[in-house]
Amino acid sequence: MIAKLSAAIAGLHTEPPPEDVLPSEIALTHAREKLIQHLPTKGVGLEDTIKHLKEDIVPGFNASSRSSNYYGFVTGGTTPAASLADNLVTAWDQNVGVHLPKETIATEVEDKALSLLCELLNLDPAQWPYRTFTTGATASNILGLACGREYIIAEAAAIRSSSAASVGHLGIYEALHRAGLDKIQVLTTVPHSSLSKAASLIGMGRASVKTIALKDSPLKFDIPRLENMLKEAGTASVVAISAAEVNTGLFATSGLNQMKEIRRICDMYGAWIHVDGAFGIMGRMLTSPSYQTIINGCAGLDLADSITGDGHKLLNVPYDCGFFLSRHRDIAFHVFQNPNAAYLSSGLSTDTIMSPLNIGIENSRRLRALPVYASLMAYGKDGYREMLERQVQLARAIAEFIIESDDFELLPIFAGEKDEVLGNVYMIVLFRANDEGLNKELVDRIKTTRKIYVSGTAWEGKPACRFAVSNWMANVEKDLPVIKEALRGVVDKYKAQK
Ligand SMILES: *Cc1c(COP(=O)(O)O)cnc(C)c1O
Repeated sequence: MIAKLSAAIAGLHTEPPPEDVLPSEIALTHAREKLIQHLPTKGVGLEDTIKHLKEDIVPGFNASSRSSNYYGFVTGGTTPAASLADNLVTAWDQNVGVHLPKETIATEVEDKALSLLCELLNLDPAQWPYRTFTTGATASNILGLACGREYIIAEAAAIRSSSAASVGHLGIYEALHRAGLDKIQVLTTVPHSSLSKAASLIGMGRASVKTIALKDSPLKFDIPRLENMLKEAGTASVVAISAAEVNTGLFATSGLNQMKEIRRICDMYGAWIHVDGAFGIMGRMLTSPSYQTIINGCAGLDLADSITGDGHKLLNVPYDCGFFLSRHRDIAFHVFQNPNAAYLSSGLSTDTIMSPLNIGIENSRRLRALPVYASLMAYGKDGYREMLERQVQLARAIAEFIIESDDFELLPIFAGEKDEVLGNVYMIVLFRANDEGLNKELVDRIKTTRKIYVSGTAWEGKPACRFAVSNWMANVEKDLPVIKEALRGVVDKYKAQK
């Protein structure tokens, strides 16, 4: 069974990627019409179902993980090792909720995959004892804010009196009251939308998320203002660092000294530092001087209390997979424990691996660690660095084409030499068309080529277009000509129509 499956999956990976990044309208219409409308009383059986999936549904999918020319959102691909392992996860269907070392190796695989990930990111696993897999960076941000909220209120209570104030135990109102606080806030710059969602979910509220950026530099912290806001009486804060920002791929911090300064003032006022490193944290793999700006943006992120990372983006494992790391092992249990559920206990309290259901959102969980474990084993530190370098190189080659083109403009606008501008580029390229008319239709016109896929966004109140290179197969020689041809074609067609 498994051998057959492995062969089938291996076969899938030798299939050439589809020509078009989007399904044809005919395929979409066909798939839509063929969707079964009602639950059959008698099932149609396995054979007909497989036929339906293959012939009707799959042709209606886009090529997000199967083609390196899909640059939408930040959509990672999936390495062959990860893909194979993910199919084993389905076949064996382990529920990784409780640590049961006499019954399954599953929790140990998860813990090992997480410590390998720490090594990949130059984080000492011993310093990050609270670590778990999540469904993605959004869930990891929820964990980060929930743990931050628990910590900052407990710290405020400890300073005020000796009485403990755990939100997990008392609820937010009673805990704030005991700690003598009126307000809790998240201080950040250019946050991802999921940070506000997380704030809403955990009862801090979207309005508690405040950006405190420098006026002329929307990514960078205004440090004196940060300190003033941390100081406010009756207030406790989480500081959230965007590493990196999703529209531009730029980092909110620019070096170890700045991170040390942020850590110092946060410690003075009992604040928690959370890093949203969904895709940016992977920059810690880079070592070559050509990536110095990215290396600086990642420097000192290990001074944080918690870190969000995504597996299904630059790690190139299948959806859905994110991870969360924190220095504070006890906090996990304060927030996420299943109290009094003796039947869920592993019965080994001295064991170092905590049951995942006591340190994260879900109780029952998929073994999403296995694709990570397999992929890290298959390609190693050098393999992953090489994959990321190819992605950055492709993004920089696209950026260079944009800079040199008379029809497009690279964003944000930097007043610097070309090499310096390109040195800032990570794996996201934000740009717009110089012609306002074309710019309004740019994203749609690019999608219509069907050869490359990009996402639309807004920059300085105008539509903008964004390449997010996040597929392990990225290759300048192979992909750049396709991109150039598509962009040139869009411009030529627009001019011809005018
Ligand atoms: C993608 C992204 C998220 C959300 O991640 P999901 O995996 O979609 O939940 C959060 N923060 C940043 C910076 C991101 O790029």
